[in-house]
Amino acid sequence: MPYMDILIAEHSGFCEGVERAYRIALEQTREGRPVFMLGNLVHNAQVVEKFKNSGVKVVKEISEIPSGAQGTLLISAHGVAPQVYEEARTRGLAVVDTSCPWVKKAQKIAKELADEGRVVVIVGDKGHPEVKALVGWSGGKGQVVENLADLQKLSFPPSEKVGILAQTTQAEEHFKRLTDELKKKTKDLKVFNTICGATSKRQKAAVDLAKKVDLMLVIGDKLSANTKRLAELCDQTGTETHQIQTVKELDQGWLKGKKKVGITAGASTPEWVIEEVITLLRAR
Ligand code: SF4
Repeated sequence: MPYMDILIAEHSGFCEGVERAYRIALEQTREGRPVFMLGNLVHNAQVVEKFKNSGVKVVKEISEIPSGAQGTLLISAHGVAPQVYEEARTRGLAVVDTSCPWVKKAQKIAKELADEGRVVVIVGDKGHPEVKALVGWSGGKGQVVENLADLQKLSFPPSEKVGILAQTTQAEEHFKRLTDELKKKTKDLKVFNTICGATSKRQKAAVDLAKKVDLMLVIGDKLSANTKRLAELCDQTGTETHQIQTVKELDQGWLKGKKKVGITAGASTPEWVIEEVITLLRAR
């Protein structure tokens, strides 16, 4: 078997926000009272499964929790709209909030922009929980744009006061491109780059590595926005790139003729999932 180098990107795997959410949630499972997880704590099926196995009940909505049930409601790292805290209080649930501080910061900005009477433009993935929550913090009025086509559909007079911010896991270049475009539509634009430090570092390290290898493997859940973005950015370098959720999805045919294989992983991918992939590659 020919020799193959395995290179691992700096800053891959759990970010500080996910580490924090994971640690807080783990502490709750040891408290001995019922724990309800609202949505996925982080976008990684293996992590969520681990919590389910320790007795945590995952619910999509608070209304799924039987009325009168006591317990703890875990808010995910992606954050929630303000109404959710109110609903939990009304139901008598103890809230344990694992929202990432970067997400909290973006929420505060969305609220401030809306309070100033600005049109709030959110660059993000429609339907992603973090983005839905940001819309909630903007008083329900935030306009979500995924791409240039969405942005061009926005219509307001040039005198309109506008503010723009990003889902924390967007790509820097993409946010900048859309911001530049929005500047052509209004004279009064406030720009807040709310992309988190962990995302920027991961993206840069992944792209740098992708340029040096013949094959790039991006490990992470299909639901994970930041993993998806990493895969897109690596792919754009021209290097063959595949996103896999676990080692089971690794097609050994991809390795044929490859001398250097690069690995990166999304911010919600646990170490043990990354290790399984590395172990298999080393075994070759
Ligand atoms: S990717 Fe960024 S915003 Fe998301 S949890 Fe990690 S540090 Fe927080």
